[in-house]
Amino acid sequence: MSEILFDRIALIGIGLIGSSIARDIKKYGLARDVVISTRSAETLKRAEELELGTAYTTSAAEAVKDADLVIVSVPVGASEAVAEQIAPHLKAGAIVTDVGSTKASVIAQMAPHMPENVHFIPGHPLAGTEKSGPDAGFSGLFKGRWCIFTPLPGTDQTALERLSTFWKALGSMIDEMDPQHHDKVLAIVSHLPHIIAYNIVGTADDLEAVTESEVIKYSASGFRDFTRLAASDPTMWRDVCLHNKDAILEMLARFSEDLAYLQRAIRWGEGDKLFELFSRTRTIRRSIVQAGQDVDSPDFGRHALDK
Ligand code: NAP
Repeated sequence: MSEILFDRIALIGIGLIGSSIARDIKKYGLARDVVISTRSAETLKRAEELELGTAYTTSAAEAVKDADLVIVSVPVGASEAVAEQIAPHLKAGAIVTDVGSTKASVIAQMAPHMPENVHFIPGHPLAGTEKSGPDAGFSGLFKGRWCIFTPLPGTDQTALERLSTFWKALGSMIDEMDPQHHDKVLAIVSHLPHIIAYNIVGTADDLEAVTESEVIKYSASGFRDFTRLAASDPTMWRDVCLHNKDAILEMLARFSEDLAYLQRAIRWGEGDKLFELFSRTRTIRRSIVQAGQDVDSPDFGRHALDK
């Protein structure tokens, strides 16, 4: 048990991220009341069955009443609609944050609706899986992972510290950057890899020479690692692509150029160029392991198969 950090927390959206937050709040005793809100009665019922909160409603407006901390965990394209619904009902002094994977767009959608007497602090925990919905969440998802804030100019430092304390209680490490920078960094470390994975798996699916059964049967090779990313939630990733368009297009252009270089080296048998690139990229993998952001084992999430 940690100490109670907020009297009442409202969680708007209770999928993978929202329900993982809910589980940690409960585990560490971080709030007296946790009001859960989601748009569908079906998801709400599931959240209640899982005992993720202390009160449940399909009305986001209802949920935020008297809440000291409001965490919005919905697809980024739904941010403005949610902001509109909750804005008139927010408690003076409340902290409103989100977990969206893109930041400039979320700020543009939410900030204009936020009353002056609340602290709106956009955030993004860099943690997740390819699963979605309240059953997919788990306690410990954020442990050892970064949570990035993109505070607006003039953000109240005490509110920022309270929110940092909350995420630290979930095991996160905190960083701050401006929203445009965040969107560029995430375009390369997260958005581009997902788009590449969707593309490779889509290409394999389209290939007539390779039957679907062969793709599945021989998937022990590199393909399998891409299928995990390509199984990610279609709504979430559609929204990420639409709401981080500029940074993603910039990274895709660079990626295409580098791919053409690789293509040329293969065509002309330039083994030294291939070897140089493959050696350089291997070092990056080692650095990620050294930074504690992955384990040095060859199985990317395949553990369950061995059990
Ligand atoms: P999820 O598991 O699919 O859950 C989505 C939640 O949002 C559900 O409660 C769903 O409600 C609600 N929702 C969906 N569409 C909505 C709409 N149009 N209006 C209002 N509510 C809506 O999603 P998630 O993985 O938790 O992702 C939530 C946010 O976290 C996204 O912004 C995503 O970018 C960000 N994020 C995701 C990851 C990841 O790896 N998944 C990592 C970091 C950040 P119903 O079920 O009731 O329809």
